[in-house]
Amino acid sequence: MRKPIIVGNWKMNKTNVEAKEFIVEIESYLNGNENAEYGIAAPYTCVKTCVDNAKNLLIAGENVHFEDNGAFTGEVSVPMIEELGVTHCIIGHSERREMFNETDETVNKKIKKLFKSSNIIPILCIGETLTQFEEGKTEEVIRTQLKNALVDVCGECASKLVIAYEPIWAIGTGKSATIEIAQNSCAIVRDEIKNLYGTEVASKVRVQYGGSVKPENIKEYLAQEDIDGALIGGASLKVESFKAIIDATK
Ligand code: PEP
Repeated sequence: MRKPIIVGNWKMNKTNVEAKEFIVEIESYLNGNENAEYGIAAPYTCVKTCVDNAKNLLIAGENVHFEDNGAFTGEVSVPMIEELGVTHCIIGHSERREMFNETDETVNKKIKKLFKSSNIIPILCIGETLTQFEEGKTEEVIRTQLKNALVDVCGECASKLVIAYEPIWAIGTGKSATIEIAQNSCAIVRDEIKNLYGTEVASKVRVQYGGSVKPENIKEYLAQEDIDGALIGGASLKVESFKAIIDATK
C-alpha cells in the first residue's frame, strides 16, 4: 500500500517570517494526521526556518547541484542541503528545464548524487509541453525522460523515488489535466519503471500528479489507481488553501 505524498512547491516565494507563520499554522492543523505525508519545498533562504518549525511536515529543497563544492556561483550542494535537514529535493522541475538549462543529463547526475551521498529522496519531475501533448507525444516524452533520468540508478534507489508527472501546459495555468489524462500518464510512468526495474520496484515507487491541483480537484486525482500524491504550486502558498487540501485528503 503506497502512502500518498502531498508536497507544496513554493518556488521563489516567502520570506523567513512568512515561512515560519505558514509552517507553524499548518503543523498545528495537521495535529498528527497520518493519512498522507505532507511536505513543503521551500527556497533555500527559508529552509532552515521551515525545518526548525516542522514536526510532521517534510521539508524539501527545490533544486541542488551535482558537485560537492566548487566554482558554481549561486548553487548549493547535496552536503549543504543535507546539513539543513531537508528530506526530499525536487529535481528537474519544468521551470528549471525551461529557464535554467536543466537537461535530462543534469537531472540524472543530480539524482545519482542524491542517492550516492545522502538519504534525501529526489522528487523527479517529468512532463510534456503543450505542443508535445497536442502532437500525441506524451507517452514517448514520459518514457524517454524517465529512461534518461534513471541511467545507472539502481532498483533499490529507484523504489524510493517520488516521480511527479507534471504536464507543462497545466502548471500555473489553472488548466489542470483531466482525471483520465492524469491517471493514464501516471500509469505510463509506472509501466516504464516496471520496464526498467520490474514489478516490485514499480509497485513501490510513488507517482504524483502536478498541474493546477487545488482543494476542489485533489480528491479525485488521489482516487486514481496510479496517482499517489500531488505536487502543488499556487494552491500551496496560502495557509487556507493548503488547509483545504489537507481536509480533502482526510
Ligand atoms: C508546480 O509548480 O509544480 C505546479 C504544479 O504548480 P501549480 O500547482 O501552480 O500548477
